Amino acid sequence: MVGFLDTLVFLEQDNNESQDVDNLVSFEKDWDKNKVMLLSNQPHHLISNISYRAAKPKSEERDYKTKSFELAQVVRATCLEIDEPSSDSYLKDVLGKYTKKWLERTHHHLGATHDAGYPINSNFDYSVLGELNRFSINNVGDPFIEGGYGVQSRDFEIGVLDWFADLWEIKKDEYWGYITNGGSEGNLHGILVGREVFPEGILYTSKESHYSVFKAAFILRMKCIQIETLTSGEIDCNDLKKQLLQNKDKPAILNINIGTTVKGAIDNLDLAIQTLRDCGFSRDRFYIHCDGALSSIMLPFQDQVPRVTFKKSIDSISVSGHKFVGCPMPCGIQIARIEHMKELTNDHDYIATRDATITGSRNGHTPIFLWFALNRKGKQGIRTEVKQCLDNAEHLKERLKAMGASVMLNKASIIVVFERPPEKEFIKRWQLSCTGNIAHICVMPHVTSDKINEFVIELIEKRSTWYKDGGKQPPCVASDIGKENCVCPLHK
Ligand SMILES: *Cc1c(COP(=O)(O)O)cnc(C)c1O
Repeated sequence: MVGFLDTLVFLEQDNNESQDVDNLVSFEKDWDKNKVMLLSNQPHHLISNISYRAAKPKSEERDYKTKSFELAQVVRATCLEIDEPSSDSYLKDVLGKYTKKWLERTHHHLGATHDAGYPINSNFDYSVLGELNRFSINNVGDPFIEGGYGVQSRDFEIGVLDWFADLWEIKKDEYWGYITNGGSEGNLHGILVGREVFPEGILYTSKESHYSVFKAAFILRMKCIQIETLTSGEIDCNDLKKQLLQNKDKPAILNINIGTTVKGAIDNLDLAIQTLRDCGFSRDRFYIHCDGALSSIMLPFQDQVPRVTFKKSIDSISVSGHKFVGCPMPCGIQIARIEHMKELTNDHDYIATRDATITGSRNGHTPIFLWFALNRKGKQGIRTEVKQCLDNAEHLKERLKAMGASVMLNKASIIVVFERPPEKEFIKRWQLSCTGNIAHICVMPHVTSDKINEFVIELIEKRSTWYKDGGKQPPCVASDIGKENCVCPLHK
C-alpha cells in the first residue's frame, strides 16, 4: 500500500470512529489533488466531506500521509491471510466468527447493517432464493441484447427496469437502462452519457453531492463546478445561475440530488431547470442526471412532494437497490432516455451491436433479488414502508427536540440530522455516522419505533451527564443546520 500513497489513499477502518477520519483529512503539499482518490469503508458522506475539503486552501492542510499509513497497517493486522491448505474446521471457525459479528452489527445498532446512519434496509428475507447460489448467473453485456452466455436473468432484469420506468414515467420504448452495481455506477453512467451527448459540457453539481459524482468527473476528466448549497443541503440556484452565466459558451451537464447523503436534501429540480432556461440554455444545450440513490424510489409514494419524472426535462436517473428496496448485495438501477444512447454511438442500430454498460460481466443474481422484493412488497407495501419511515423520522426529530437537542429533518426526508454526541463509545454503540459537529440517523424500515425509543432514552440519560452543571456544552451546529435549529448556548 505504501507504494500507492502518492496517487491513491486508502482510508480503511474497521471501527466507526469517524472523527478520527475527519481529523486525518488533508493532503500532502506536493500531491496533485485531482489525482488523489479516497477509498474507504466509512459511510459515504465522510468521503464526500473529504473530497470537499480537499478543495480547501493549502494553509489548512495537515500531515496526512503518516496517519493514513498507520491506518493501512491497522487494516493489515486484521486481514485474513490465505493460509492454504486450510482445514475445514478452520474455515468453519472463521466464517462462524464473522457471521456472529455481522449478526450483531445488523441487529443491535440503529444504523443497522454494517454501519452508521448508513441507509440500508435490512428488513429482508430472501432465504427462498438460497438455491440461486448453485448457479453462476451472469448478464454480461446489454440487457436488451440476447447474450451468448446461457445462465442469465435478463427476463428479471427487464421486468425490474420496466417497473422503475413506469415509476419515473417514461415509456418502455423510450428508455434504455440496466441493473448496476449500485448508485455510484449509475452516476458514472449517467454522467458519461451526458458527456457523450455534450463532449464540451461542464458538469455542475452541489458541493454536498455524493463523492461518486466527483469521482465520475475525475474518471471522465471533466471540468466540474461545485455549486454552493442552502442550509438544508439543497443546491443554491443563485450560485448555479452565477456559474452558468460565466460559462454560457459550453453546454451544461447538471447533476441533481434527489436526497443528499448527509442531510437528505432534495435539490429543487423545477427551479434548476428554470435557472438553466433563464441563463439561455435551451433544451438542446443541457443534460440533467438525477442522483436518486436513496429517495428517487420514495418520492413517487409521497404526497405533496416534488416529482421526479421523465415528464420533466431530465435525461437519466439512478437509484441504489440495496438501500431502500433492500438487497443482500449492492446493486442499483439506471434509466436513461434511449435517444441519448443512440447519440452515444452515432449508430441508430446501436442496440444490435453495442454494450453500453460500464462493466463486462454483470451480476445476474441481483436482478432476481430486486424482482423478488418488488413483487413481494408491491407498490402498496412500499408506500406503507415509506410512510412508516417518514413518521418514525418525524417522531425521532420531535423526541430530540423535546430533550433540548439541536436537530433538523428536511421535507420528504428520512435522515434526521442532530448535534454530534461527545462520547466515542456512544457513537460506536449506536453506529452513528458523524461529520464535523453533526450526526445523522437514516430512519430505514428496520429502524422501528422501539429502537428509536431505546436510543432516545439512553441519549437523554447521557446528555444529562455530558452537559451537567454547565460544564461541557453541546456543540454549535448553526452553520450545519441553521441558527433556527441550533440550541447551543449561543443560539438557544
Ligand atoms: C449511497 C449514495 C450513492 C452511492 O450509492 P452506492 O449504491 O453506494 O454506490 C450516491 N448518491 C447518494 C446521494 C447516496 O446516498
